Amino acid sequence: AAKDQGKNRFLIFETRMHEQLLSRLDQESRLREAVHRGELRLHLQPVVALPDGQVSGAEALVRWQDPERGLQQPGSFIPLAEETGMIIEIDRWILLEACRTIRRWQEESPESAPAWVSVNLSAIHLDLPDLTDHVAYALATTGLSPHCLVLELTETVMMRDLAVTSARLEELRELGVKIAIDDFGTGYSSLGYLRDIPVDVLKIDRSFITGLVGNGRQQELVSAIVQLGHTLGLRVVAEGVEEAEQLTLLTVMGCKYAQGYHLGRPEPADELRAHLTVPALQP
Ligand code: C2E
Ligand code: MG
Ligand code: MG
Ligand code: MG
Repeated sequence: AAKDQGKNRFLIFETRMHEQLLSRLDQESRLREAVHRGELRLHLQPVVALPDGQVSGAEALVRWQDPERGLQQPGSFIPLAEETGMIIEIDRWILLEACRTIRRWQEESPESAPAWVSVNLSAIHLDLPDLTDHVAYALATTGLSPHCLVLELTETVMMRDLAVTSARLEELRELGVKIAIDDFGTGYSSLGYLRDIPVDVLKIDRSFITGLVGNGRQQELVSAIVQLGHTLGLRVVAEGVEEAEQLTLLTVMGCKYAQGYHLGRPEPADELRAHLTVPALQP
C-alpha cells in the first residue's frame, strides 16, 4: 500500500509538471502570435521636472492585450519573453511605436509634447551587432530627433563583458541618443562602471524612495546618490514617487526629475495627451 501511495504521488507530481509545461508552451505560442496580431500596447508614464512639476519626458512601458486574459503587465510575460528571445521583437516594436508617437505629438502640439521618450531595452540587445542600426532605423523612419530618445538599461548589463558593453553604448551615443541606468542601486555592487561606461541618466530605483519619509538614513543615502549623479554631469530621475511628501524631500535634495503614481500613471498615449492638454484649454 505504501508503495502504491508513492506511485500515486509520483503520478500527481508528473501530471502537475505536465500541466505546467503545457501552459508554458501555450503562453509561449500565444506571446509569439501577440506581436503579429497587434496585441502589444504602448503605455506612457510622465517624467516631471522639479521643482516646477512640468512634464519633461515620458517612459514607454509595454502591455499585452491578451484576448483570453485581458491587459497583461510586463511582469507576467517579460521573463518568458527574455528566456525565449522574443523580447528582441517586443522591444523593437515598442521602440518604433514610442518614437512614432512622440514625434507625431511633437508635430501636432509642441506645447504639450514631452521633450524626450525613454525606452527599456533588455540586456540581450547588447549581444546583437545590429542594435545601433536598428535604433538608427527607428529614428530615421519616424523622424524623431536622436536627442529626444533615451535608452534604459539595468545595471545587469555591467555584469557582461564591459568592453563590449562600452563599445555598443558608445556607438549608440554617437547617434545622439542618451543612455540611462534603470533601477540604479539595486543590481550591481561596484560603482566602478560609472568611470568606464558612458551613461547620461541615473534612475534611482523605487525601493530607495519607498520609506523615504521619516527615515533620515535613507534620505542621506538618496541625497548622496543625487549629488553623485550631478557631480558626474548626469541627469538624475527618482522612480516610484507615490506621495507628495516624498516629492518635497526630493525637491529639497536638489533632485531635478521624478516619476511615479503621484505624478501620473502609465496610460495609453492618447489618454496622457488628453490629461496634459486639458489644463491648457482652461481659461
Ligand atoms: P521599469 O523600467 O523600472 O519601469 C517602472 C515600473 O514601475 C513600471 O512598471 C511602472 O508602472 C512602475 N511604477 C511607476 N511609478 C510607480 C509608483 O509610483 N509606484 C509603483 N509601485 N510602481 C510604479 P511596469 O510597467 O509593470 O514595468 C515593470 C518593468 O518591466 C519595468 O520596470 C521594466 O523593467 C520592464 N518593462 C516594461 N516595459 C518594457 C519594455 O518595453 N521592454 C523591456 N525590455 N522591459 C520592459
Ligand atoms: Mg525603465
Ligand atoms: Mg526602473
Ligand atoms: Mg523596475
